[in-house]
Amino acid sequence: MGVSSCLLGENVRYNGEIKLNSIVKFELGKAVSFIPVCPETESGMPVPREPMDLFQTDGSIRMITLESRRDMTWIMEEWIEKKLSELSELKLCGFVFKARSPSCAMNSALLHVESRLERSGEGLFAKAFIERFPSLPVEEGEKLHDPVLRASFLEKVYNIHKARYR
Ligand code: SF4
Repeated sequence: MGVSSCLLGENVRYNGEIKLNSIVKFELGKAVSFIPVCPETESGMPVPREPMDLFQTDGSIRMITLESRRDMTWIMEEWIEKKLSELSELKLCGFVFKARSPSCAMNSALLHVESRLERSGEGLFAKAFIERFPSLPVEEGEKLHDPVLRASFLEKVYNIHKARYR
């Protein structure tokens, strides 16, 4: 299963802080093996790095650094294209994403729309992954703290695995 690397406690976050999600790493980790992915560091960004948010401009969504206002969208999109081809070879059975990230959130990143701030942004990598693999189960790590949701997510993962490998 693919997973945002920082959920496993890897030192990849923008502020250099470790943010281990022990439910994902240890509870889910009993049942699956992980392929960690960090879109920001794998596309060449350092740790630590300037924070970024999503901005809606002229009908498109851009990923822009908050102080120097650098548009990082092209760098990320170029990396995503290559990474999705690589991941398609691995036959993943699902993906667990880090919430609130401009790269990894499914629908919880900060999105600037004119002068409004919304918590509904789809991270650039998560969005592209879901579009490329629409039948795979996906969830944000924090939601999997709910045991009922976790069990239901795992059942979907098993079903994909069974269908693929039986
Ligand atoms: S949220 Fe995604 S891009 Fe950000 S540190 Fe975690 S894995 Fe890397």
